[in-house]
Amino acid sequence: MDENLLRRVSASWTKSSLESIGLMLQGNPKVVITAHRSPDGDAVGSTLGLYHVLKAMGVDVVVALPDRFASFLDWMPGVQSIVFHSEKPEIVEKHLAQANVLFCLDFNSPDRAGSLADCIRQTDAKLVMIDHHRDPDAFADLMVSDPSCGSTCELICDWVLASGHWSKMSIASAQCLYTGIVTDTGSFRFPSVTAHTHEVIAGLLDLGLQHAEVHESTFDDQSLSRVQLHGFALSERLKIWDKAGVGLVALDLNDLERFEYESGDTDGLVNRILGIRGVRMAIFMRESDPGKVKMSLRSKGSLDVQALAVEHFSGGGHTNAAGGILLGMSAAAAKDKVIDVIDEMISRQL
Ligand code: 5GP
Ligand code: MN
Repeated sequence: MDENLLRRVSASWTKSSLESIGLMLQGNPKVVITAHRSPDGDAVGSTLGLYHVLKAMGVDVVVALPDRFASFLDWMPGVQSIVFHSEKPEIVEKHLAQANVLFCLDFNSPDRAGSLADCIRQTDAKLVMIDHHRDPDAFADLMVSDPSCGSTCELICDWVLASGHWSKMSIASAQCLYTGIVTDTGSFRFPSVTAHTHEVIAGLLDLGLQHAEVHESTFDDQSLSRVQLHGFALSERLKIWDKAGVGLVALDLNDLERFEYESGDTDGLVNRILGIRGVRMAIFMRESDPGKVKMSLRSKGSLDVQALAVEHFSGGGHTNAAGGILLGMSAAAAKDKVIDVIDEMISRQL
């Protein structure tokens, strides 16, 4: 293995955190890996990527997630072995009750694990959090937190490197980890991408990873109705604050039904808003159930959407990408509230 790869692994992989995990994996433990609810590419990629490596090490391991993810990730190797709490609660709870070690990937507070939050709080297993979101809750026995890192998948690659298990990295694990790095960095475009991110990718390519296949499976296999929903959203549901450089798209359940919405169909839409010339902050809101609106926020430069998500939308995330939720109001009322928040933010800045 190229020593260069090892040179710049995340500083959060200290000698003691590496040793702790090494000790936890001794003695044939039962290991469960989980991630946040509505798992995204980084959540699915990091759990499956770690799963394949641990399996290759001979560890008894399962991936248990709170609920399903968007179908554009269904191609990932190992997906068939995942158990979902939303579908088989007894089986998932049994796995968690028997677990000696529980890896919590890509989230930093039990609340983000949805229906698994209480299981995580109550389990007797050793908890290992590996994550890159700001301001983690101190809920795990071992907290590996690096908000400067672009993806949890990069942190998993770093663990595989620093713990000396790179030889256990298969093409399957490389595909999963590559997917999470690509999706969480907006295809290597966000400021969080570093020279080390590319070093890690070089390491995965050296193993024989066919990156073009990953891009094609993930991004070039969209339903026609999904592509049309994006067109509709941007032509019929976009509001722009020209001077302030803010763009907002709001979709309600009727809009979604019209385009046969499936989970994940609106992923990436918020980045299309941010891609409009002059836009510095993009907000996408989607009515997910009556009285429940999911928020996605993105920004350019130093404009901090995490702070906005925490203050107004019971959410969190990163400076340039955050999310949250509005509860107990109709889609129309939620949109009015967001417009008020934006107007107020603009007036404060003037
Ligand atoms: P997305 O817009 O892709 O759903 O989320 C963007 C970022 O915000 C991700 O890093 C995600 O973890 C975070 N995020 C999304 N929704 C929530 C939420 O409800 N609460 C918190 N704390 N973070 C969120
Ligand atoms: Mn992530």
